Amino acid sequence: MNDQRNPQVPIDVDPDSGVWRSDGLPMVYLPRHFFIDNHRLVRAAMGRAAHARLLYESGYESAWTWSSRVAAQGELDGIAVFRHYLARISQRGWGRFHIESLDEATGAARIRLAHSIFVEQAGRGSSESTLCDLFEGWFPGSLEWVGRGERRPWRLRCREIACAGQPGHAHCVFEVRPRTE
Ligand SMILES: [Zn+2]
Repeated sequence: MNDQRNPQVPIDVDPDSGVWRSDGLPMVYLPRHFFIDNHRLVRAAMGRAAHARLLYESGYESAWTWSSRVAAQGELDGIAVFRHYLARISQRGWGRFHIESLDEATGAARIRLAHSIFVEQAGRGSSESTLCDLFEGWFPGSLEWVGRGERRPWRLRCREIACAGQPGHAHCVFEVRPRTE
């Protein structure tokens, strides 16, 4: 048996309520097609720009909350929390996230993503635009939380600058930079 075929993220199931928890946080396990279809329908109803803003803000808050709650359990601190966050979202099936570069002085980072759920669903090279803006708020949310704890009040912005959903890209790339405005 190859262990890699089993979930690498610990899942604790409450025997009474049936609630799943990982890292102490309640989780929901759902079909990818449901999530992607919902994402597509909300985007169509709201318009791309408004939906992207909503995703960014909600993703930012979620990553901040995750990072603060996991750190509060006392086993991880500082930038290790961000590294653990990328490991966990990879283990939870969103895609394989890899830190290409990370400047611990400024919070600037470059994240590579392979097998994004959006690319897996749409097909590589099938799209004119980037597909994975869902993730754009996640990295600043976790990194700014890290910065706050280290008295570095980073104000960051993230964009997907290449997507494997577009022709000519082997993987997706996210660039996190200090805000200039
Ligand atoms: Zn992408």
